[in-house]
Amino acid sequence: MTPIVRYAPSPTGRLHLGNARPALLNWFYAQANGGKFVLRMDDTDLARSTRAFADGIEADLTWLGVRPDILVRQSERTTMYDAARDRLMAAGRLYPCYETGDELDRRRKRARALGNPPIYDRAALRLTDEDRAKLEAEGRRPHWRFKLDGRPVQFNDLIKGGQTVNTASMSDPVLVREDGSYLYTLPSVVDDIDMGITHVIRGEDHVSNTGTQIEIFEALGGNVPDFAHHNLLTDADGQGFSKRLGSLSLSDLRAQGYEAIAVAIMAVLTGTSLPIEPYSSFAEIAEKLDLSMISHGSARFDPAELDSLNARILHTMPYSVARPRLEQFGLAHEPMWDLLRENLLKFDDIKDMARLVTGPMTPIIASEDREFISLAAKRLPDEPWDGDTWGQWTSALKAESGRKGKTLFLPLRLALTGRPDGPELKSLLALVGRKACLDRLL
Ligand code: GLU
Repeated sequence: MTPIVRYAPSPTGRLHLGNARPALLNWFYAQANGGKFVLRMDDTDLARSTRAFADGIEADLTWLGVRPDILVRQSERTTMYDAARDRLMAAGRLYPCYETGDELDRRRKRARALGNPPIYDRAALRLTDEDRAKLEAEGRRPHWRFKLDGRPVQFNDLIKGGQTVNTASMSDPVLVREDGSYLYTLPSVVDDIDMGITHVIRGEDHVSNTGTQIEIFEALGGNVPDFAHHNLLTDADGQGFSKRLGSLSLSDLRAQGYEAIAVAIMAVLTGTSLPIEPYSSFAEIAEKLDLSMISHGSARFDPAELDSLNARILHTMPYSVARPRLEQFGLAHEPMWDLLRENLLKFDDIKDMARLVTGPMTPIIASEDREFISLAAKRLPDEPWDGDTWGQWTSALKAESGRKGKTLFLPLRLALTGRPDGPELKSLLALVGRKACLDRLL
């Protein structure tokens, strides 16, 4: 059976690191199992969903490296939800309710004060036809609740193991709003059935929804998919990421110059037993990652780890991978890349780093080193240069000046690169060439 998975964001904001996690887990699952990946825009909340956010989410996923096989928008599938609603009504599973938000609040408060669970008391089920007619004559429009079986619903979660959600301790969920629009619960099930979704991989905040949704799958006679609920990514303090918390949005991370694969690895492997490493491709992660590796504990994101992973990815990035981007900067030169990549924290740092080779750069020569650097300029070997040139030059300088170690090498580095650290001087010398080196020493 070909797995079909879906990632179902609500386009009420852009994606952040936390919601990249289910996107990637679904994507890797599809990749590893020869499956299909559906991107479903859960845009039934017309007041909060926008096309601009939906387009932004698509752009975020493209940047991340996730390529949906199919894209659907719930706002275009209302007729299917209407048909399912009518079937549930006909089966007596959907019933009209007339309480206002304030009335429900008051009832919940009263229940709590009496020490009862604040669940909906199903008062609407006791309304007669006349009661309903009277309420409608007052101008009230019904919202519709699904009548739960009120039983322990069991499922075998592919991450968390056997789960039981007792729907007896839940309020009958509202599926249809007063204005006839749908809340997330019913459209999600209708789509999962219609698209033959085999695996629902989503955050553990949905476990109790799963209990409700399994009842709806069964009421509609659909196949119940397998469920896998992953731990949620949190910040260092254990707080969840919110869409309104912009700093870790994918578009911001992109603007800050992080590699998409570094962001993806952090989003998906934090809180799993697969180590955070500079994997070279999604295929490699998809092959190694199994849902069983996702921890049952927390998944705390560490920004310092993202920085270090990003750097590690750049330090070993093959020239063939870097080249198209280097071409855009006019810096496509393999030996230069191989020398400088180890010094990069972000890819764009190459623009500054490359000036160590191409110039312009400002040499630093301290007054107490002036004489030594003049000597170095005098003793700079003639071309052609080879792999031994650096060694010959510095041995000669050591013998003649009596300097060694840091006092020998640091002034040379400062003069040749204008900084106290950076790429290996031996290779840099060869790339810079005699004329430019001499200019820096004089
Ligand atoms: N739109 C829902 C969300 O963003 C989808 C949950 C699901 O995957 O079913 O939480």
